[in-house]
Amino acid sequence: MAHDQDEVKLSRRAFLEVSPGALAAAGVTSMTGVRRSQSSKPEHDRSENDSGPTNASVDTENPSSGNPPPTDSGGLPPFKYPFSFGHKRLHSGGWSREVTVRELEVSKTMAGVDMRLTAGGVRELHWHNAAEWAFMFYGNARITAIDADGKSFVADVGENDLWYFPTGIPHSIQGLNPDGAEFLLVFDDGNFSEYATVLLSDWMAHTPKDVLAKNFGVSMKALDRLPEKELFIFQAEVPGPLEVDQKAAAGTRGLSSSDFAFRTLERPVSKRTKGGEVRIVDSSVFKVSKTIASAIVTVHPGGIRELHWHPNADEWQYYIAGKARMTVFATGGRARTMDFQRGDVGYVQQTLPHYIENTGDTDLKFLEMFKSSFYQDLSLSQWLTHTPPELVMAHLNINRATLEAIPREETIVMPG
Ligand code: MN
Ligand code: MN
Repeated sequence: MAHDQDEVKLSRRAFLEVSPGALAAAGVTSMTGVRRSQSSKPEHDRSENDSGPTNASVDTENPSSGNPPPTDSGGLPPFKYPFSFGHKRLHSGGWSREVTVRELEVSKTMAGVDMRLTAGGVRELHWHNAAEWAFMFYGNARITAIDADGKSFVADVGENDLWYFPTGIPHSIQGLNPDGAEFLLVFDDGNFSEYATVLLSDWMAHTPKDVLAKNFGVSMKALDRLPEKELFIFQAEVPGPLEVDQKAAAGTRGLSSSDFAFRTLERPVSKRTKGGEVRIVDSSVFKVSKTIASAIVTVHPGGIRELHWHPNADEWQYYIAGKARMTVFATGGRARTMDFQRGDVGYVQQTLPHYIENTGDTDLKFLEMFKSSFYQDLSLSQWLTHTPPELVMAHLNINRATLEAIPREETIVMPG
């Protein structure tokens, strides 16, 4: 660990030197943060030694837990869960894994599912008692639904596109050529589970055949080969041209006037600074998305998603790329810092202050979702610069020049 790098960070934290040999002995080949300690400790203090068993690779990915900043304090429950810990539900045609309130206890208002479908792989026709918001990570997929008037919706989505299906609206997802799709589903209920959805095949398997025959006005023999249990995800043929599916599904009723898909990249960035950019997508632009608002955030190396909070809702995060460190401040002097990387879920309760630093050397990209029709945040800088200056200076013991240097408008992402 280079000494000049230590010096850069000394203004914020004190560091205790560790020789490269000691790191190698601990099985650590690279470390994003060196051990730090209170600068008041004597030079040969050994209180931070960890001579017992340890999981070196997990420790390396979570330096802020083993070596928290001295400003961290108190018992704030964890607000991170890696999808890598999730049980993967494997099927022919794809897989899924979920992070709900059962995995991440603090995440009471929203839950998420990471799902992969092969080309032709189908997440079967279903609905659930929660609304579904989605972000396409990879590939191409065809989504279908009917709206509350029974009119058909069929669309193809690609990387960075979104969709939203309201509670109780039936829908399906199918992977397209060349390699299917992977996407994130976010539900407006922390208690949601992929294991508890209404599936077409499951419903049919639990309805007497004579009732189905009477209901459809067909013979019982025609229903001989109905699945005997749920499909959930299954392999099918890759569907044909979109227009053909749309026309066949619309019939004489015509297509739905609702657009359940949203093309994120077709709209301008909401805010761009030297530190990064943010795209805010809520029901003001994505009309049907009445219960989930989102922000797609990019933070350049060294930048910080500024100190802020959300008055209206909890925040469910998904980290797409890069490395981050988030500190959440709670009441009663509690603060906790946790590290994040791609595939991790983060969570911040409504109104709790937080910030997110890019701790890597590449762009940090993450998603913020809120159970709300609208996006809302308040920035510390904006608050302090729109309060009588004498009042702020009396609180913080800062002079006028310092106060006047603070950005007067919300920047969202500050450069490093
Ligand atoms: Mn669904
Ligand atoms: Mn936030």
